[in-house]
Amino acid sequence: MKKRNTILLLGIFSIIILITAQIIIIRGVWKQKDEMFNLRYRLFSQDALDVMVRQWGTDGFDTARILIGVKSGMVLQALDSLKKDSLTVKEKQDLIKHVDFVLNKEQDLSQFLSRYFERRGIDKDFNSKIVINRFELINFDQRIPVFLSDEFTNRRSPQSGDTLRRTGPPPGRMRQPNRTSEILVKRYGNEGNFYRLDFEYLIDFSDKQKIVLGETAASLVLSIISILLVVSLFYITYKNLMEEKRLSNLKTDFINNMTHELKTPLSTITVAGKTLELPTIRSNESKILETAKLIGKQSVHLNQLINMILEISMWERTQFQLDKKKVKIGDFMNDIVESFKSGGGNGAIITQKYNFKDQNIDLDTLYFTTLINNLLSNAVKYSDKDPVIEIEGFTEDNNACIKVSDNGIGISKNDQKHVFDKFYRASTGNIHKYKGLGLGLYYVKKIAEAHGGDVTVSSKPGKGSIFTVTLPY
Ligand code: ADP
Repeated sequence: MKKRNTILLLGIFSIIILITAQIIIIRGVWKQKDEMFNLRYRLFSQDALDVMVRQWGTDGFDTARILIGVKSGMVLQALDSLKKDSLTVKEKQDLIKHVDFVLNKEQDLSQFLSRYFERRGIDKDFNSKIVINRFELINFDQRIPVFLSDEFTNRRSPQSGDTLRRTGPPPGRMRQPNRTSEILVKRYGNEGNFYRLDFEYLIDFSDKQKIVLGETAASLVLSIISILLVVSLFYITYKNLMEEKRLSNLKTDFINNMTHELKTPLSTITVAGKTLELPTIRSNESKILETAKLIGKQSVHLNQLINMILEISMWERTQFQLDKKKVKIGDFMNDIVESFKSGGGNGAIITQKYNFKDQNIDLDTLYFTTLINNLLSNAVKYSDKDPVIEIEGFTEDNNACIKVSDNGIGISKNDQKHVFDKFYRASTGNIHKYKGLGLGLYYVKKIAEAHGGDVTVSSKPGKGSIFTVTLPY
């Protein structure tokens, strides 16, 4: 039990380690592919930008710069006329919104990039984004900060007059860029007559995840397959180990039971032999006869036991050899039950009810008799009161069915799964209270199957059991 738990724990532990290692590897591969994707598109976009400057003589923001310059001049003029040297928070917000709007609206870069990507046959469905880092109005030598992003101030040491960190909550576009999914195409720094502007142009691809997933798929699939293989291998090995353990326990039980079974007739014979040596017995002829009969009976029993064991081990090596005859199943059943009653029925009350088709069935009469006898003797043996056995025969789906019901001790649900296994004996109760080798039902199953049929059990512990044998006509 302890060893079993250790194997189980070690196995589960190794699988967890394997899964963790695979997750780390896959994450690494994903990150690498993601970075490669970003790098690729960054190089492509910078390439595109160079082409644009060469062909168009502009970086795509000329119109925007002019409009921002005009707007800045107007704001400064208004400040001058009001004799003010700074803007209110609201004015700053409005101004930065305007700058943001103009930068987005009046730029030709996105369109150029899209066409450039398309021409190169790569993904062209991207979203562009402008992130303003700094915007200042310049009035002669005086600088009026309108917007300084946190990132900007962190990146460069604040200059004099940069006391204003961030003027109110800027619109969504001006938040800190998400560096993992966005690709920085270019950072622009401009100083016009009336303003100074620093901003970034970023792009991101909505189906980037899909593309990266596609590139990672091979590693992902291999990882999943390797995990599945290891888990199934472990499961199969563990199951086999448990099955072997179960079989070895069964074999040990069998050897114990067999020794016990063989010892009983053997010790009776030994005692009887010794008895025959006694002078008082030798002079009594009837006692000699009685003892000789006892020896004979026990020898037959011993012989039966040994034959049974030999026969089973022979089955293992060769196929069942059936010597089939055509039989009227109802009449044949009646014969078997009657001879069981007269033989060793042990006072059991046995009733029979047959409703078979009027059709002969091919049976090996010897094996079939053993099958029924095993069921009947079990019904008698596994009983703690006067045994009442009901045998019912009927036809169902062109099969002859024979139901043997008893009022015995019954079989638990778990034992029902194994009673037909070789050497299996139910664990409940004193194992020596009911003698046996755990071969009777194994025999029954083998014989039924050799005839192309089957046997099943249903039972309620304490109430009794029903064994149903089906044989094809
Ligand atoms: P054996 O009787 O030699 O132990 P069997 O293969 O005939 O072996 O039976 C296997 C086990 O099934 C028995 O040990 C017993 O626990 C259980 N069993 C079989 N028949 C009955 C029955 N009619 N009622 C209750 N238990 C039964």
